[in-house]
Amino acid sequence: MKQAGEQLKGRHAVITGAGRGIGAAIARALAGAGAQLTLLGRTAASLATAAESLAGARTNCQTADVTDAVAVKAAVVEARQRLGPVNILINNAGQAASASLVKTDDALWQAMLAVNLTGSFLLMRECLPDMVTANFGRIVNIASTAGLKGYGYVAAYCAAKHGVIGLTRATALEHAKRNITVNAVCPGYTDTDIVSESIANISAKTGRTREEALVELVAVNPQGRLVTPAEVANTVLWLCCPGAESVTGQSIAIAGGEVV
Ligand code: NAP
Repeated sequence: MKQAGEQLKGRHAVITGAGRGIGAAIARALAGAGAQLTLLGRTAASLATAAESLAGARTNCQTADVTDAVAVKAAVVEARQRLGPVNILINNAGQAASASLVKTDDALWQAMLAVNLTGSFLLMRECLPDMVTANFGRIVNIASTAGLKGYGYVAAYCAAKHGVIGLTRATALEHAKRNITVNAVCPGYTDTDIVSESIANISAKTGRTREEALVELVAVNPQGRLVTPAEVANTVLWLCCPGAESVTGQSIAIAGGEVV
């Protein structure tokens, strides 16, 4: 059996939204298991900082917007040239804008579907051929508890994340006989910029203090706290490592019992 630090040795993993938050934690976890990484996002500086923090790992940064099909294709082609065929894809890039349904304009609706759902589809379309050729692949889509249940004031985000789960299930079945697994990981409220922005938003719209807004968010988690990015990353790592071969098409909540 391979040592923990070598379980993904020789594997090339592409992680979207890897410059901060959950994506950066996933990069640390996969690098710790020996993977070489393509870190993809829109901001070159944050990708470079994340790459520098992964001492010893072979990394490649690709600046691209996951909603842009041409940019995604170019980034995956270049990633393949630098680090070889893609073995692991983590679709983590996402945004969570909020508005009541009647105040959800066309731009917000399209933006939520584009970054959370279409972006995952575009990356899968570019990376899956490598996995089919190798008869090996691991895809993990970072969905959300908002892909498993409803929340008020985030209809577009919820619809997109429910879509990610459908995309995951269909792709898993299509590739089940090829040693390619496709799963969704569904965090509850996790301690990153997205939650800081939600707290600021609630505070601005309701007049509550930031502390009161945080209490309101963590109240939905039976453990009464925010999830940590490392807890999400640990589940992603497990899905990518030897031993999880028969887990496919699943949507795994990391949410302290919020979804039972
Ligand atoms: P975050 O700290 O705001 O990070 C989001 C990441 O996505 C950033 O690295 C950002 O980088 C990247 N990104 C955003 N739009 C992009 C685009 N169009 N193209 C490429 N990259 C883009 O948020 P996070 O909490 O870590 O979120 C990561 C994932 O977890 C998201 O899919 C989110 O929906 C999901 N999630 C989060 C929570 C939570 O409570 N935090 C709960 C459930 C699910 P750039 O801005 O540099 O491009």
